Amino acid sequence: MSSDTYTPTRQASERLSGTQKLYIGGQWQVASDNNVSDVYNPSSGQVISHAAVATTDDCERAVAAARRSFDQGVWTRLTPAARGRILWKLGDLLEENADEIAELEMLDGGKAFDGARHGEIPFAAECFRYYAGWCTKIEGSTKQLSTVADAEFHIYTKREPIGVAALIVPWNGPLVQAAWKVAPALAAGCSCILKPASETPLTAVRLAELAAEAGVPDGVFNVLLGGGASVGQYLAEHPQVDKLSFTGSTEVGKTIVAAACSNLKKLSLELGGKSPMVIFEDADLEQAIPGVAQAIFSNAGQVCVAGSRLYVQESIYEEVVTGIADIAKGMTVGPATTPGYDMGPLISARHLNSVEQLIERGREQGAKLIAGGSRTGNGSGYYLQPTVFADVNGTMDIVREEIFGPVLAIQSFRTEQEAVQLANASEYGLAASVWTRDMGRAHRTVGQIRAGIQWINCHGIPDMAVPFGGYKQSGWGRENGYESLLQYTELKSVIASL
Ligand code: NAP
Ligand code: MG
Repeated sequence: MSSDTYTPTRQASERLSGTQKLYIGGQWQVASDNNVSDVYNPSSGQVISHAAVATTDDCERAVAAARRSFDQGVWTRLTPAARGRILWKLGDLLEENADEIAELEMLDGGKAFDGARHGEIPFAAECFRYYAGWCTKIEGSTKQLSTVADAEFHIYTKREPIGVAALIVPWNGPLVQAAWKVAPALAAGCSCILKPASETPLTAVRLAELAAEAGVPDGVFNVLLGGGASVGQYLAEHPQVDKLSFTGSTEVGKTIVAAACSNLKKLSLELGGKSPMVIFEDADLEQAIPGVAQAIFSNAGQVCVAGSRLYVQESIYEEVVTGIADIAKGMTVGPATTPGYDMGPLISARHLNSVEQLIERGREQGAKLIAGGSRTGNGSGYYLQPTVFADVNGTMDIVREEIFGPVLAIQSFRTEQEAVQLANASEYGLAASVWTRDMGRAHRTVGQIRAGIQWINCHGIPDMAVPFGGYKQSGWGRENGYESLLQYTELKSVIASL
């Protein structure tokens, strides 16, 4: 790894030198007890900034600000078209500031600049524009009545905003994950409180600044920084929060379900995954081998839909295993702040340790390590080699547990039926991909795999129009598309006797 010569732009330096503040009721403020946490750059392991840690009082004031703005109709009394224009403008502002935001995402989350600048940031901008369009298209329907004879009725349904929405996101796609929630929540007419992961507060703060600039009224969009167990839990329990949308681990998702019992707030949960990829013997291997490598090593495997289990038909098993091992061994790993590396760091020292422990268990449980398996780098930053295990089986922890790192587990299968069984042998059901030239087989197989989003001859492509979410313990509900918008609404039915 060559030494990192990156120096932050002046704009980034200025931003980092200050404390990242809370945004409550249109005011920027430090925590009421002045407490701050360190913000790390995973490429260097250095502290780059400080972030306010919201106290219970701060959380209370954020919920009250959101509640007040919603109850007073500050946002909902704007016409749908006016709300749509504001969301569209927010999309434009994200794009205008994409260089700066990509730099923040690179520094805070260890993401390669180009990937953030040309992938995630424009995607977040498009997400706001997509939901801007929905503001004017939230509709109900009319119904007919059969239970009462000889009388006239007018019956209709209408969609209303659900109220105050708390939005809790993880660190692996900080801005995009926030956009996937903030955009539909605002489009539906909700007031919201965003809580980013404590690892990655920077772009949530920037998003709130741009939302204010775009014209989102005070109190309608608030940002709380701080820990999940304190701030996140407080929001999950709070009786004045009507809706909570959470993206994160299945373990924390279950905690949130319990906390939400306080007022039975409505929940959307985007949780973990252990996504299977199936390569049949008739697949185009020139496409499939690099495709599955990309599916596991992109963002160092810290992707909820990462293809972490690979099932390969027996006759091509050796060829595929060798091909992926060669790719893994040839990949360069280094700081996100230096262009050109194939893979960047993991998010934190703690996460690196947990991924290493799972690799160790893979070794102990008899999986055959054919690439990587160790830390790399010069000791600063949190780097791991792209790692591939072959000859695994379904009893091993590396096959059962979500690792959320660059670790692939490969196993062979004989028949289509066996491939489906293996793919479904997981408590998760977020995503899957199937690689074959036989489209009949492709559609048959995705029909039998129990996962919410599936790809054929590709993996991991998202779109704001395409519903995204999990079967089984990968979650409740869907993000993106009209389906996500509906989850920020209540449905009211009205029966009027004429
Ligand atoms: P995590 O530990 O579950 O944290 C996610 C978010 O929840 C963070 O903002 C965290 O705050 C907060 N949190 C933690 N404990 C909480 C509690 N008791 N109550 C309320 N909020 C709490 O997950 P992570 O390690 O950051 O992210 C990785 C996980 O997210 C993986 O399992 C991955 O599969 C999943 N993920 C899923 C999707 C999807 O769409 N299905 C997308 C991306 C990631 P702090 O950071 O401050 O602790
Ligand atoms: Mg960070």
